[in-house]
Amino acid sequence: TTPTPSDIEIASAAKALPIREIAEKMCGLTEDDYEMYGRYKAKLSEKLSSTLGGREGEGDGPTCDATAGHGYYVVTAGITPTPLGEGKSTTTIGLVQAMQAHTNARAVACIRQPSMGPTFGIKGGAAGGGYSQVIPMEEMNLHLTGDIHAIGVANNLLAAAVDARVFHESTQSDEALWKRLMPQAKDGSRKFSAIMFKRLKKLGIDKTNPDDLTEEERNKFVRLDIDPERITWRRVVDMNDRFLREITVGESPTEKGKTRKTGFDITVASEIMAVLAMTTSLADMENRLGNMVVGPARDGTPVTCDDLGVTGALMALMRDAIKPTLMQTLEATPVLVHAGPFANIASGNSSIIADQIGLSMVGKGGFVVTEAGFGADIGLEKFVNLKCRKSGLKPNCAVIVATVRALKCHGGGPPVTAGKPLDHSYTTENVDMVREGMCNLVRHIENTKSFGIPVVVAINAFPTDTEAEHAVIREISLAAGAEDAVLCTHHAHGGKGAVALANAVKAACEANEDCKDFKFGYESSLDIKSKIETVAKNIYKADGVEFSERAEEKIKLFTEQGFGDLPICMAKTQYSFSHDQSLKGAPSGFTLPIGDVRLSAGAGFLVPLVGAFPTIPGLPTRPAYYEISVDTENDQILGLS
Ligand code: ADP
Repeated sequence: TTPTPSDIEIASAAKALPIREIAEKMCGLTEDDYEMYGRYKAKLSEKLSSTLGGREGEGDGPTCDATAGHGYYVVTAGITPTPLGEGKSTTTIGLVQAMQAHTNARAVACIRQPSMGPTFGIKGGAAGGGYSQVIPMEEMNLHLTGDIHAIGVANNLLAAAVDARVFHESTQSDEALWKRLMPQAKDGSRKFSAIMFKRLKKLGIDKTNPDDLTEEERNKFVRLDIDPERITWRRVVDMNDRFLREITVGESPTEKGKTRKTGFDITVASEIMAVLAMTTSLADMENRLGNMVVGPARDGTPVTCDDLGVTGALMALMRDAIKPTLMQTLEATPVLVHAGPFANIASGNSSIIADQIGLSMVGKGGFVVTEAGFGADIGLEKFVNLKCRKSGLKPNCAVIVATVRALKCHGGGPPVTAGKPLDHSYTTENVDMVREGMCNLVRHIENTKSFGIPVVVAINAFPTDTEAEHAVIREISLAAGAEDAVLCTHHAHGGKGAVALANAVKAACEANEDCKDFKFGYESSLDIKSKIETVAKNIYKADGVEFSERAEEKIKLFTEQGFGDLPICMAKTQYSFSHDQSLKGAPSGFTLPIGDVRLSAGAGFLVPLVGAFPTIPGLPTRPAYYEISVDTENDQILGLS
């Protein structure tokens, strides 16, 4: 067999259809439903899921019959991966290609927008691979439609607002602050701006005329009294720039010695990205952005984006980012690309809005396949406990992607490192090693079933795999309770390599129309510690949880502040069920350490940190950028993977 060409070779050779055709023929949309961003991308109105109802589609694509009920909802998750990735995106794309082009079902894929940090760093892009890709892949992997840029600017506007406010408050009297914050018009009157009423309400001041405030009320109103030592809001940049992890701001003499240690995160780790993924409408986004906490005041009360008066400006910056971007697969299947929250410290799933639009677009009998990042212990757990909890949607079935190489890694194979050749145990038959590693996949199957979601295992075939290795995966998966375990070759063959998978998914969905067994992993009304312990014991199989002093303090603080009812978003390594990435397979009996807990009040969750996480990755000695260039004669980008 001839080897599959590189991802960018395949993508560049492909002829993308004008996105107008995808929108109108494949999605049944009309011109009012989308805005063109170049020839191959369009943004869809965030309201589309509610306006599609009852409309008849045109052409040979799906009919948008939302009144007849929405489509089947399928989530793609994975086993505990190697650093090379096991093909969740590739399988998500391969599966919808198979559904639409080869089984005549209407299908839409929902995937995350990749961050440019990893694109130039270690992992490469995230548009799928081989003959299962989103095109144009260079547009997907680079700027797309500017959402990440918008998030970066919004995040940094808030960061600038925080430091400027602390500075002004530290150098001005209450009186001076009042005069500057509430300038007099020519006629001597002062006016609250709309957002100021939110702060007045929070302070319990029920007055509309600024002149009616007492001096005490005025002073309370103007002074946020943010504790500069405890500011949690950081700056962001969409690059793997490790030297920004810790910085000192305010070094210029103009800041009068008010220096402060802070740092940068990668933009996709911004809470605003998490807000975008979890939001359901513009009004909901406004609420969430307004509720984001930048740190406590000196008296411990949380200071929010609303308190700083900047929510409206953030909304203006995010107005277009709330709209998912429509693209296409190599086989002209519609793909919605939207949001890409960091999978460890955030929810790691694409947006609720895109999934909702997709489900209305495909209508009853159609399929939305949405991807959950990392292994199922992280991505799928958050899909269930955060995303579905918020959206009210229930998945009809989960696809768990497994590879021989990852199973071997769990079965005692030597460590796999990105950028280094694989050890020969990975490229020659070793059935026992696969069998040994199956404990990992089995646990993911059992965990997924514990949420009441039926599982189809997708065996993502690599050229070096053997039949005997695949047979073991199938046999043990079925014994563990998977509905089916199907070999797929969509990387090498496109949609036709995933027809068996499409049929298995269809059967699993039809057998689970009403999702009647679906359940969350915990009630969010449980106290914070119990929620963490439930996930640690039920999903990771820890014996118990150990909370650091810092974590204990934060849990107490957040409970007192009234955030105790929020669901939790665990920040844990993706390379093991445990906190220790060297523990492969299906470890148990360990104690899970919780070092800290963070608050994402806007996104709507608490983030328990299992160990320390760089929230901005670094570049390796030989980053991906060495391969990336532009062929100036043909005006083509080369070397993206
Ligand atoms: P994930 O979404 O799980 O991180 P991806 O779908 O991004 O993984 O795939 C990771 C990399 O592995 C991509 O470069 C992709 O082209 C490659 N890949 C995926 N499946 C296969 C396969 N069956 N054969 C060869 N390469 C594959």
